[in-house]
Amino acid sequence: MEYSIDLGGISVHLVSGGRNRVDGGGMLGILPKIIWNRWYPADKKNRIHLETHCLLVKKGTETILIETGCGNKLNDKEKAFYSVEDSDWIGANLANIGVPPEDVNKVLLTHLHTDHAGGCVTRDSSGKLVSTFPNAEFFVSKKEWEVANSGSGITPNAYNNENYQPLEEAGQLRIVSEDAQICPGVRFLPTPGHTLGHVSILIEGQEKELVFTGDLLPLAKQIVPHYNMAYDTDPVLKAKTKQTFFREACDKEWILAMSHEPATPICRIVEEKETGRYVLENVGS
Ligand SMILES: [Zn+2]
Repeated sequence: MEYSIDLGGISVHLVSGGRNRVDGGGMLGILPKIIWNRWYPADKKNRIHLETHCLLVKKGTETILIETGCGNKLNDKEKAFYSVEDSDWIGANLANIGVPPEDVNKVLLTHLHTDHAGGCVTRDSSGKLVSTFPNAEFFVSKKEWEVANSGSGITPNAYNNENYQPLEEAGQLRIVSEDAQICPGVRFLPTPGHTLGHVSILIEGQEKELVFTGDLLPLAKQIVPHYNMAYDTDPVLKAKTKQTFFREACDKEWILAMSHEPATPICRIVEEKETGRYVLENVGS
């Protein structure tokens, strides 16, 4: 499945950071299995197939990567648990489309959970943890950085400082505000709830605008504001953030790219006239 969109002077290309499987109940939060299992059928271990989508953004001399997936340094137990293959990670998947790691000059992260920040760092031939993208600046929101370093994640292993400490040591980390303009046409949008410092990322072309939603809207079926994930730090705040965001996304006709949605990752939100409900329309490939 290939998705490339020219937004007008800036292009985006969806790249997989690796497929995985995660417990369906964890991903769909308060929803009963009898509902979510129709949409995302569970395997024998109750896991559903997911994506860890990343977005390659190109504008002039900028080669920007949004998110990095789980990476290729999980231990054997984690790999089995999440059904992750080392060969299917962002480094390999970028190489497959002709993008060497040296070409990436910025990496933007919606938050620092392992399935989003795991590919920032890899092991070199001596086993040392090093930056996957040696010429990149890595951008994280200040609030997310503080939460990740406070040990207050919702589960003990939601954050793993192996994913970002080597970047800090190499001087590649940039801690910025939740609404930072990263470069012309690319900026952070504060979307708290999944984590307090979570941001979505707005790409503004001359003709169209696209938002990478991160875990604000990880799956298409989570279009209802109060549908949550068990991993959300503050589900009430997240529902409020979603409501506000959906309104703005409708008004501005934003195209949305969703982190974990396997079937229809690129959509647009529309409001149903009769019901006032938000629904997603597939934008296609
Ligand atoms: Zn997350």
